[in-house]
Amino acid sequence: MSETTANAVLEIDLDAIAANWATLAAGAAPADCAGVVKADAYGLGLDRVAPVLREAGCRTFFVAQIDEGIALRRLLGDAEIAVLSAPVAGVEQIYADNRLMPVIGDLPSLRAWRAAGEPGPSALHVDTGMTRLGFNPSEVQLVAAERPSGAAIVMSHLACADEPDHPLNPAQRDAFAEVVEAIGCGARASLANSSGIFLGAGYRFDLARPGMALYGLNPTPERPNPMRPAVTLRGRILQVRRIDTEVPVGYGATARVRPSAKLVTIGVGYADGLLRSLSGRGCVYLGGSRLPLVGRVSMDLIVADATHAPEADVRPGAWVEIIGPRQSPDDLAGEAGTIGYEILTSLGHRYARRWHRAEGPSE
Ligand SMILES: *Cc1c(COP(=O)(O)O)cnc(C)c1O
Repeated sequence: MSETTANAVLEIDLDAIAANWATLAAGAAPADCAGVVKADAYGLGLDRVAPVLREAGCRTFFVAQIDEGIALRRLLGDAEIAVLSAPVAGVEQIYADNRLMPVIGDLPSLRAWRAAGEPGPSALHVDTGMTRLGFNPSEVQLVAAERPSGAAIVMSHLACADEPDHPLNPAQRDAFAEVVEAIGCGARASLANSSGIFLGAGYRFDLARPGMALYGLNPTPERPNPMRPAVTLRGRILQVRRIDTEVPVGYGATARVRPSAKLVTIGVGYADGLLRSLSGRGCVYLGGSRLPLVGRVSMDLIVADATHAPEADVRPGAWVEIIGPRQSPDDLAGEAGTIGYEILTSLGHRYARRWHRAEGPSE
C-alpha cells in the first residue's frame, strides 16, 4: 500500500520507541529492563520494533504466544525470549528448538517440563492478586519442592499498577517478596510492568517488563505522559459536502445536521481500528481545527463536521489527524470508552505504514 493509493497513513517513530526503552531502563535501574512485544509489538510491527529495542540494549523479551516467540527468534538470534501465556505440556520440544523460555504457572506444566528433562531455562509465574495466570500462593511450597533447576525468572503481575494509591499494589509487592524468598534463589525476580516502574523502588526487584510505555502510552495516567509519542495516524478526506437542508447522517440516521453545515467524509472506519464506539463522540483534527465525528463510524468511513474549519483547508485529498500531536492514542481511547492498549492493538492493516529511524544505536 502506498501513500498515493491508501486512504490512511500510519507512521511509527522507532527512535521514540528506542528512547522510551532507555527512559524506562533508567527508571528501572539498578534492575534490568526487558521489552514486552506481544501482539505484534502492540500493533506497531514486531519485525521493525524488536531489532530496534535490541539495539537500544534490551536483551530480554516477552511475548504471549509460542508462534510470536518463534517469529521473534528468527529476528533476534541472541535474545532471551519468554512466552507468557502458552501451553507447556506436549510442546516442550518446540520451546527447546527455538530457545524459548516457557512461563510456567501451574503444576501440571511444571511437572511436564521436569519430565521432559528441563530442555532449557524457564520462568515461574506466581499469581499474587490478578487471578488469571500463575501458581496460587498456596502452591508455592509445592513449587519450591519441585523447584526446576533451570528457573531463570520468578515473576508476578500487578493488577492495578496504573492506580498508584490502590491498596492491591503494596499487597502484591509484599506477597511477591515472600514468593521470591520461598522459591527465588538464583532466579531473577520480576514484578513491574510499565506503570509498576513508576511505583517506586520497592517494585523494581531484578527485571522490569514494560510494554505500553515503550509505544508512547502514558504509564502514569494521573500525571503528564513521561514517554515520547510513537504513533501518528492520518486519514484522507474523500468528499466535502455542503448541507443546504436538514439531513440525517450515516447508518441508523442517528445524527442530523442543520443547513449551512459543512461535512467531510474520511476514508477510515472500524475495519481500520477506529472503534465503532467513537460514533458521535470522537473527533479528528484538520490543521488546528477540531472536527467532531457526526453519526456512526462505518466499516470504511467516518463523517466529521468541518463547518468551523478554514475554507481553504477543507478539500478532498486533504489529510486529517486521527492520532498525533493533538490527539494521543490515550485521548482517542478515552473518547472510545477503552484504553490506549486497545487502540494500538486494533490498528488496521489497510494503512500505508511508515517506520522512521533516524537516530542510530545509542552506544
Ligand atoms: C502485557 C504484560 C506486561 C506489559 O504490561 P504493560 O502494562 O503494557 O507495560 C507485563 N507483564 C505481563 C505478564 C503482561 O501480560
